[in-house]
Amino acid sequence: MMTLVGLVIPFSATAASDSLVATVVEAPPTNQSNPFYVGNRGPLRPSPLLKLPIGNIRPEGWLRHQLEIEAEGMTGHLEEVSKWCKFDDSAWASPDGEGKYGWEELPYWLKGYGDLGYVLGNERIIKGARRWIDACLASQQPDGYFGPRTNKTGLEGKPDLWPHMVMCNVMESFYEHTGDPRVIPFLTKYFTWLNTQPGENFGAGYWPKIRFGDNIQSLYWLYNHTGDAFLLDLAKKIHENMARWETGVINWHNVNISEGFREPGVYFQQAQDPKLFAAAERNYQTVMGLYGQFPGGGFAGDENCRPGFGDPRQGFETCGIVEFMHSFEMLTKISAQVIWADRCEELAFNSLPAALTPDQKALHYLTCANQVQLDKNNKAPGVENGGTMFSYSPGEVYRCCQHNVSHGWPYYAEELWLATPDRGLCASLYAASSVSAKVASGAEVKISEETDYPFSETVVFKISAIQAARFPFYLRIPGWCQGAKITVNGRSAKVAPQPRSYVMLERIWNDGDRVVLQLPMKLSVRRWEKNQQAASVDYGPLTFALKIGERWSTYGGSAAWPELEVFPTSPWNYGLVLDEKSPAKSLKVVKKSGPLPPQPFTPTSAPLEIQAKARKIPAWKQDFTGLVGKLQPSPVKSGEPVEQVTLIPMGAARLRISSFPVIGQGSQAREWSTSKPVPVSASHCFANDTLEAMVDGLEPKSSNDHSIPRFTWWDHRGTSEWVQYDFGKKRKVNSVGVYWFDDSGAGDCRVPKAWRILRQDGERWLPVSRSSTCGTLPDTYNGVSFDPVETTGLRLEVELQPDFSGGILEWQIGP
Ligand SMILES: [Zn+2]
Repeated sequence: MMTLVGLVIPFSATAASDSLVATVVEAPPTNQSNPFYVGNRGPLRPSPLLKLPIGNIRPEGWLRHQLEIEAEGMTGHLEEVSKWCKFDDSAWASPDGEGKYGWEELPYWLKGYGDLGYVLGNERIIKGARRWIDACLASQQPDGYFGPRTNKTGLEGKPDLWPHMVMCNVMESFYEHTGDPRVIPFLTKYFTWLNTQPGENFGAGYWPKIRFGDNIQSLYWLYNHTGDAFLLDLAKKIHENMARWETGVINWHNVNISEGFREPGVYFQQAQDPKLFAAAERNYQTVMGLYGQFPGGGFAGDENCRPGFGDPRQGFETCGIVEFMHSFEMLTKISAQVIWADRCEELAFNSLPAALTPDQKALHYLTCANQVQLDKNNKAPGVENGGTMFSYSPGEVYRCCQHNVSHGWPYYAEELWLATPDRGLCASLYAASSVSAKVASGAEVKISEETDYPFSETVVFKISAIQAARFPFYLRIPGWCQGAKITVNGRSAKVAPQPRSYVMLERIWNDGDRVVLQLPMKLSVRRWEKNQQAASVDYGPLTFALKIGERWSTYGGSAAWPELEVFPTSPWNYGLVLDEKSPAKSLKVVKKSGPLPPQPFTPTSAPLEIQAKARKIPAWKQDFTGLVGKLQPSPVKSGEPVEQVTLIPMGAARLRISSFPVIGQGSQAREWSTSKPVPVSASHCFANDTLEAMVDGLEPKSSNDHSIPRFTWWDHRGTSEWVQYDFGKKRKVNSVGVYWFDDSGAGDCRVPKAWRILRQDGERWLPVSRSSTCGTLPDTYNGVSFDPVETTGLRLEVELQPDFSGGILEWQIGP
């Protein structure tokens, strides 16, 4: 049969237009190429989905409102708040690259700020971004390098190439929006300079070598515009010299993972080896399998992922949220696998809104699936980072996120619609919007998408076209959706949409055609086997969290830009009472009537609620730092009365329990154990370390192992210190093993100068008898035996090395 793709039918000749082809496909075919939009140029693997120029998509509804409050909030006014965004102080804006500040902050902000202007058509922001971009373009040196000169020699004489990767993204968007003729030669010249760098420079520095995949994508972007072959050689050189993400998760920093894990999937476009794309998926599974065992789409990385810290109370950095989304957007276009778009929506709906205040005038560093109090105080050692991490601030306390959050919503809005190689269009991420694009052999169509999704199951597409045209229209069917239904002009399309696929609708589309997509949402309960059998409640792409009363309190900042804490005003320590056989039957969805509020992500405006049954668990409490207590194994016993509680979308819940204990009865159910007092004490313990670390059973890999909790006497130096183990009753002991902490090369803790073992004798501490040598070796247990003794406690008396502190990773007592 002759293909009709590309055929434009005069508007009057619509009689034969009725025949609709509707099929389920895994991805759009790549055996044709779309001449209207930029996709991969050979020998790169053909793109199954192509980005449309910024500005072709107009976001509407709640998403437009998010962007508008972003423009009125922190991102739109960051020059007033951040010292890194002061034009006169920035090395990015100076013609000779000299200035106080020249690292990642300005490009982080500018990449979202510019796109925010382009997506909204906000002239103030477009003009504001242009000023920076013009200055940056003008700073190029004859050799092609541009921007801050300090970065050219920032790594012990070698270039620190990380901040430039971000600035390349700024230039790409600027070009997509304006077609400015300076951009292509500018980037070509910069990459020509980059190509003069020896391979080893791409494997240098902590951040650059991990994140160089960003530059590989920019090289493909430029190659697709110019066809300059050296760009692909450079991409290969970078891939071969940077950190090897295709071998597995090689770094456990949350933002490094969110950006780095995708690199083999990006390079797959050039190398064409399916194992590379599979490696990106495997990296994702590795991280989520260990640290993503709760809802919201993020993982426990509060700054790094740490063994033993996978509870839903662990945090995910706001930079991690937006970079993970960006990765999923890229992998969607590279593979057309629906699952990446699903993952992007999961983060966008459930985690990103609550990372910010509802007016987007402040954000926090860490967002957690279970997070019941957002105060300014230190949460270490429960979360890895010490200091303020939970309260909302527009300020430099959250320096990287403060700037980098800017691209979260604009990039998302740019990916709602994508072009397809067969000259059609794909509705990829669903949100109210309209798109203007060329299809078929160049017909201009406009499709408006009317929906309250994800708060509604119905998506209506209305087609406007001056000329009728035959083209394929792809609809993504999310993985969670069974029984999707499609009608075209009121008639049911004869197709059975499968979860995690696309439905392709092809016909001669006419002005006024109407496609209705129904995505039935069902209540379901996810159980987290690897996280104490906790339960989460999902409805379509939304996860629900307990509605907790919020008390907001200003603690700093200015009247225009306040810093805010949020405290709970209602109980949060509930376990769900679920129908064992059919958990969803214990739950009821309540839809609020009336139009969707502009900002649906608040407890009062959330358009959907779920009524659930629950019982309080009185022993479940916050710890001494205000962190919610860790989950314990479900089912959990509770003698408290059954209550009806309200759940709201977790993106609307800034205080939240979204991973619940499940209430049970009978022999299976357990009492919630109140925390046992720690049996160890010390002369001093650094605030970000713990006493428990000595006895947590986590095996150190070396004395310099930063991946597990530690105990240190920091910042006591050269002093005499002690640690003590209280048995509570008499115990026969004859040996100890001590694994010292020693961060030579990184800090000022060392193995001690000397130590000895004392036993408790009533009020007194006496040395043990006939002790073997008390060793001070790093990277091993220092085992010491002594005459057996019955005692209620042991103490280690330690003399630190002069000028150094010290600590213990693990302390064993035998037998
Ligand atoms: Zn950050």
